[in-house]
Amino acid sequence: MTASTANIKSPFAVKQTFINIADSSELFPVRRIYCIGRNYAAHAREMGADPSREPPFFFQKPTDAIQNIKSGSVTDHPYPALTKNYHYEVELVVALKSGGKNIPVNKALDHVFGYALGLDMTRRDLQKASAEQKKPWEVGKAFDHSAPVGAIHLASKIGHFKEGSISLSINGEVRQNANLNQMIWSVAEQIAKLSEGNELFAGDIIFSGTPENVGPVVKGDVIVCKLDPLPDLSIKIV
Ligand code: MN
Repeated sequence: MTASTANIKSPFAVKQTFINIADSSELFPVRRIYCIGRNYAAHAREMGADPSREPPFFFQKPTDAIQNIKSGSVTDHPYPALTKNYHYEVELVVALKSGGKNIPVNKALDHVFGYALGLDMTRRDLQKASAEQKKPWEVGKAFDHSAPVGAIHLASKIGHFKEGSISLSINGEVRQNANLNQMIWSVAEQIAKLSEGNELFAGDIIFSGTPENVGPVVKGDVIVCKLDPLPDLSIKIV
């Protein structure tokens, strides 16, 4: 507990969400989870959108959607309620150590604390039905355990990702395999764009979009996500 909250009295306690930090006993406190939509051209096309004319758009997940995934292990991940078409989306996750308003692109990476591998798990049938009915996406995107994420690796140690292969396999078969340099909006551009609409703060994280070939999983499937030099992220659907 920090000095700023030490004297606050509440009728009950609410759990703060944290993400593990690699090679550290410290934990990263999560403030907001932003996610960019359709940030790889081929994925935009498979979702039925035209990637050439679209400004970036963002949605959020609740912080308690985070499921911390330990590297070197396969963590059980519950198949959620309500859906019959549960999809994986492997993504690079960006964690901020500071923020601001109207952050210029050339200063944006100064705010990055580190990077992790994450999954933007999606109830695709509900997301599509919501979109068709011009309703919000929450039911498809923002639910319990919908944001499995690995430990955050410090940018001061591993640097920033401008390119690199990001991939996802199901039961040993590669399904998604792309390069981070295929993002339509770079990490720096995403931070700058987000900060035009909301002040960003330390503790904010950004799911930077998934490449093409999203698809369904069923109970028993094992997902393995890879992005050098991060350790693999792996979950089993149960
Ligand atoms: Mn996504």
